[in-house]
Amino acid sequence: MTKHSVLSHEIIVVATKNAGKVKEFAHALQKLGKETASLLDYPQIPDIVEDGETFAANARIKAKTTGDALGVPVLADDSGLRVAALGGEPGVYSARYAGEGATDEDNNAKLIRELKRMRENQELEELGRLTDGSLLLSKAQFVCALALYDPATGLFVEAEGTVDGVITEIPHGTGGFGYDPLFWVPGLNRGMAELTKEEKQQISHRGEALRKLLPLLEQA
Ligand code: IMP
Repeated sequence: MTKHSVLSHEIIVVATKNAGKVKEFAHALQKLGKETASLLDYPQIPDIVEDGETFAANARIKAKTTGDALGVPVLADDSGLRVAALGGEPGVYSARYAGEGATDEDNNAKLIRELKRMRENQELEELGRLTDGSLLLSKAQFVCALALYDPATGLFVEAEGTVDGVITEIPHGTGGFGYDPLFWVPGLNRGMAELTKEEKQQISHRGEALRKLLPLLEQA
């Protein structure tokens, strides 16, 4: 991957239709003076089958499929939530945890249902409560794998980021997307959905993966 091939582009295409992710990438790439386009701008690209067993494999599939179709370098993100009490699930299935076409609300409701059922069966480690009385149900981690693919060279540049937290019984905050309202960040003593975009970027899995990826592009 040459510096010219990627960083010379005014617009970086991000291979996602997830509006929450698009907003976060646009915010981060704007700081580099780049505009962000996404699959929401290219409805002609068919849905991509994400059948990889890891976040990294899925990110590569999305970047390559989109990059080959559009003929420009493409950045792809595959991310999700690993919940300790569920043995790391939903993991790569985070977007469809409650079934194909599930909404964020459906997935969050299923997660709480599962963890509360386990608590009733005394299968959960006792993690205490927040000051508002809500139960802390399970340790968890967000993971983000990024892959940037350049169809001109066939090369990938890749990076991964994580952030640790705890799943709470009730939502906190209305920002972010996906599982953010249920993800408590102990280091900040706030919920992920209570953070501004800037604050989330500083501590999140996606922010960390981007901070690792960008210097690799400059050096490459
Ligand atoms: P993907 O689009 O296949 O990578 O699915 C990612 C799924 O993981 C999303 O639909 C969200 O449910 C979840 N996810 C990924 N990143 C975040 C985040 O930053 N906050 C909350 N949920 C996330």
